[in-house]
Amino acid sequence: MRLALNAITDELRRLKASGVESVSVSDEGIAALRGLAAVPATPKAAAPPAPAEREARPALGRAAPAPAVPVVVLPEGDKAARWEALRQAVLDDPVCRAKVRPGKKIVIGVGSLDAAIMFVGEAPGAEEEVQGEPFVGPAGQLLNRMIAGMALSRGDVYIGNIMNWRPDLPLGPDGVQTGNRPPTDAEMAHCLPYLRAQIEVVNPRLLVALGATAAKGLLGAKSFGALGEVRGRWHDFSGRPLMVTYHPSYILRNPTNRTKRLIWEDLLKVMERAGLPITEKQRGFFL
Ligand code: URA
Repeated sequence: MRLALNAITDELRRLKASGVESVSVSDEGIAALRGLAAVPATPKAAAPPAPAEREARPALGRAAPAPAVPVVVLPEGDKAARWEALRQAVLDDPVCRAKVRPGKKIVIGVGSLDAAIMFVGEAPGAEEEVQGEPFVGPAGQLLNRMIAGMALSRGDVYIGNIMNWRPDLPLGPDGVQTGNRPPTDAEMAHCLPYLRAQIEVVNPRLLVALGATAAKGLLGAKSFGALGEVRGRWHDFSGRPLMVTYHPSYILRNPTNRTKRLIWEDLLKVMERAGLPITEKQRGFFL
């Protein structure tokens, strides 16, 4: 434990000497640092951690060689400078770099840094990892239409993901990944500090989680069973209102007026809470 505390103290001293004035540590980082308190100086005495825990533990001290949960350090400065530093940190992250397939891109959020509304999706898919931008494939086209229904454009909101890389599946015989899988808890734990930092920089009035994975990433893996338990209601994410709704790809798979109306009712609540004007025509969509 002393080894770990010494390493943290040294790192903070090094950051201070290099001009860093504030350090933002996510809840996951704090949990990971707390985990270190349980790591004894002699590893032999410790019970072996579960695989997911081992993967999420910071690489500080001899007893914790696995990849670190990132501790995001945002510099002082305006939003653009802070966001750019964050983008660079994600692009430089050795775990993100190792996980993204050759020729593909790490994906970070996009949109207005002054957005009142931040949409949070799950993970990049095939198109997103090519373009390096969230929601540019078919689900993204639908999300754009949903945003247009709110009389906004993509540039008025911020769109992020829980994950910064496309979760991998075995490649087909043609060397191409077809299909997607949801991220594991350990993968989400690694990327969540970056989403938190984006939320800190943009400082939106409210968040919208798109689908069960995004909702579990934000509310906790064990916070609910079926999406219906939390969908269409306001929740809290670190003091910020969070609406949970369907993922656009669910609507693409079930394109009925009933499902469209359900997601639209959630977005009407978002518009109301964000103080956006709502016309009678908008109130009646999909009825
Ligand atoms: N689905 C997501 O959840 N995120 C994307 O960026 C694209 C599709």
